[in-house]
Amino acid sequence: MSVDVSAELFTIPLEDSRYIVYAPLRRAAFVANAEVVNFLADIKAGGLDQSADPDGSLAEFLRRLEILDAGEEALPVTEFAGDPEPTTVTLFLTTACNLRCTYCYASAGDTPTKNMSIEVARRGIDFVASNAARKELTDFEILYHGGGEPTVNWRVMVDSFEYAREKAAELNLHVRGASASNGVLSDAQIDWIIANLHSVNISFDGLPSAHDKHRLTVLGQGSSHLVMHTIGRFDEANFPYGLRVTVTRDQIARLPDSVEFICANFQVEQIQVEPAYQLGRWTNAPSAETDEFINAYREAQQRAHSYGREITYSAARLGALTNHFCGVSQDSFALSPDGNVSACYESFSEDNPWAKVFFYGEPEKESGKYSFNLPVLNNLRGLAVQHREFCQGCFAKWTCAGDCYHKSLTISGEEEFQGSDRCHITRELTKDQILERIAAAGGLFWHEEGTTGCQPVE
Ligand code: SF4
Ligand code: SF4
Repeated sequence: MSVDVSAELFTIPLEDSRYIVYAPLRRAAFVANAEVVNFLADIKAGGLDQSADPDGSLAEFLRRLEILDAGEEALPVTEFAGDPEPTTVTLFLTTACNLRCTYCYASAGDTPTKNMSIEVARRGIDFVASNAARKELTDFEILYHGGGEPTVNWRVMVDSFEYAREKAAELNLHVRGASASNGVLSDAQIDWIIANLHSVNISFDGLPSAHDKHRLTVLGQGSSHLVMHTIGRFDEANFPYGLRVTVTRDQIARLPDSVEFICANFQVEQIQVEPAYQLGRWTNAPSAETDEFINAYREAQQRAHSYGREITYSAARLGALTNHFCGVSQDSFALSPDGNVSACYESFSEDNPWAKVFFYGEPEKESGKYSFNLPVLNNLRGLAVQHREFCQGCFAKWTCAGDCYHKSLTISGEEEFQGSDRCHITRELTKDQILERIAAAGGLFWHEEGTTGCQPVE
């Protein structure tokens, strides 16, 4: 009888000569010994060793997981072509900031300030609103982001959202708004955010002493009490928000306590934890992408679970099947303060080191629209994981999807990506998630039927 391996399979070594057999596109995994791994390798090589499975029960088990004889897998691939037609605009409102964080990737405060004008914001809003109307969608979206603290350009934030509302009413659409923020806000700003935006992502590092070590005001004082006031107000109002915890090398050991502090004091549901990015003011700082980080993350995750919460790390996301890590390879449309189009949140200004890679459009003088540089855009579209050589043999490829391209450029330059310390973190934390799924499904195997297919990630 002929038997076919019908899944892209990875074996992930564990301790004690055991392995996870993982079929990402079947959303299936189980823990196996070397005999089972060899059995699968033999089938793949064209032979079936019946002595390893005399009663056929192993083959039957593998069929149940769609690993054998289940036909071709659908790849979770979306591709983009032609001129982009975004229905979300990200506005980099300013390069100015009311804090001076030691690890700021944007070196905010050390560079000349650029503020977006209302005209630049309106043009972007007009463009995405008209795209949404033409596509017969129900809504379009505005995201306010950094390069600085967006709320520092408060007048343009408020006026642009008001303008978007008018535009939406005119076109019979809804507008949704969200922002990143350092959380240092006045009560009037908090009131406006609660009344108008859909959600906010706040940078907050957990224990006040950990936060205050690195997230300083312009006068060099800690900002944790100000941020906690904002978060507390969001909790009182049941306003949805996420927290981003940035971990520098010196704070790794405190991560579990920081996560516990957050869980014990705030209602937040989404807690994203990332090692600090060695860029901007943190370029020469020691890396936090270490085994110590992985261990601290694991302990922090256990503490979060004890509160019924979960922490996340951006590249380890078993819940997603995608060929895109972020919007960079899927026509993300972000406007710099000067009105030009970037695909990347770290490339917020034309004078950033990798601007030539990420800036792919500019306003058209006459039409009120944009002209796009398709070679630059197509290069970005080509970063989807199926085109990234180094990722092809990696078991995390359909969930990590190649990780942050900006980070890989700062590591490898324009040379072919050869992996990074983040890859090790990503694989270890993804492995944890697979084992958790197996445990939650009863301890023998994990299989989510009928989930093969594309779930693009923004
Ligand atoms: S090789 Fe690295 S970047 Fe590529 S998918 Fe794997 S973990 Fe992600
Ligand atoms: S490439 Fe990296 S920095 Fe740029 S938008 Fe994507 S995740 Fe963010």
